[in-house]
Amino acid sequence: MTVLNGTTAGDVAGRLADQILAGPDGYSGVVGDAQWAAEIRRLVDQRGATLLAHNYQLPEIQDVADHVGDSLALSRIAADAPEDTIVFCGVHFMAETAKILSPDKTVLIPDQRAGCSLADSITVEELRAWKDEYPDAVVVSYVNTTAAVKALTDICCTSANAVDVVASIPADREVLFCPDQFLGAHVRRVTGRTNMHIWAGECHVHAGINGDELAGQARSHPDAELFVHPECGCATSALYLAGEGAVPEERVKILSTGGMLDAARETRASQVLVATEIGMLHQLRRAAPEVDFLAVNDRASCRYMKMITPAALLRCLIDGADEVHVDPETARLGRASVQRMIAIGQPGGGE
Ligand code: SF4
Repeated sequence: MTVLNGTTAGDVAGRLADQILAGPDGYSGVVGDAQWAAEIRRLVDQRGATLLAHNYQLPEIQDVADHVGDSLALSRIAADAPEDTIVFCGVHFMAETAKILSPDKTVLIPDQRAGCSLADSITVEELRAWKDEYPDAVVVSYVNTTAAVKALTDICCTSANAVDVVASIPADREVLFCPDQFLGAHVRRVTGRTNMHIWAGECHVHAGINGDELAGQARSHPDAELFVHPECGCATSALYLAGEGAVPEERVKILSTGGMLDAARETRASQVLVATEIGMLHQLRRAAPEVDFLAVNDRASCRYMKMITPAALLRCLIDGADEVHVDPETARLGRASVQRMIAIGQPGGGE
């Protein structure tokens, strides 16, 4: 057993575990400090796990992870990782996607109550009924959907490749696009497609990035660039508004995670407005500390993402919970819809 300054690793784990408070809205009581981080890394090694964190996680969760990225990039990293256990710090549909791409691995999420308002905006029953109305239509679903919805989907898409995915479908076939209405509207505008039906779903964080706010921020920071990260649903309204001309086009950069980090390193602007969930600012500031990154709306924070607290992650590693299960048939069908997307075009977003 490791002994540091007279304290064993077991003492540290026990003391931190005693601090975990379980409540109806999540786990709390543990501070994400250096001692916590060291303990997390020790437990990750002990489990032989890979620790993945989405870009919108709390900074201390991002800093302790093996990999940080968007949901699809992380799911693909999970599938390629030599470890048999994946600890996915993100929301539940993301951990499900990791599971459907890695069916033989154990996938853990620190709090399975971490949902997603966008994924919840269409249920399996609703999608089934919609398909019954348009039996010949091709179903395209954004990756922010549950595994069960992916299993009823013909082709998944990300914001980076939604236009290519829809354009790949023969022009005379009707398309059912779900669940994000802003991304759907953007795709319909770019493709000019009239036989595309769009589900009226949205992410609750959308409300925090509205057109007036976006245009107002652009006016009050006339020299700033605007980065829009489209990989999570929260940015698709900004994508739509930029296309509508709410912000001058030449200052708007629609970028995946990797593209956004590259652009941060390369930009000559001293200020950049960032229209996405505020967790992304942490990675951007690390990539380019000399640039002043400002949130278009600093209240654009996903409460589900923030349910993955230091206490939740500690409990996950100590107890091996919560494990994510997807039944094999749902996983097989969901995997096929993700793989069809990957075959069509660049899903975007890599690290
Ligand atoms: S930011 Fe929105 S789309 Fe992303 S996980 Fe949270 S609720 Fe879902």
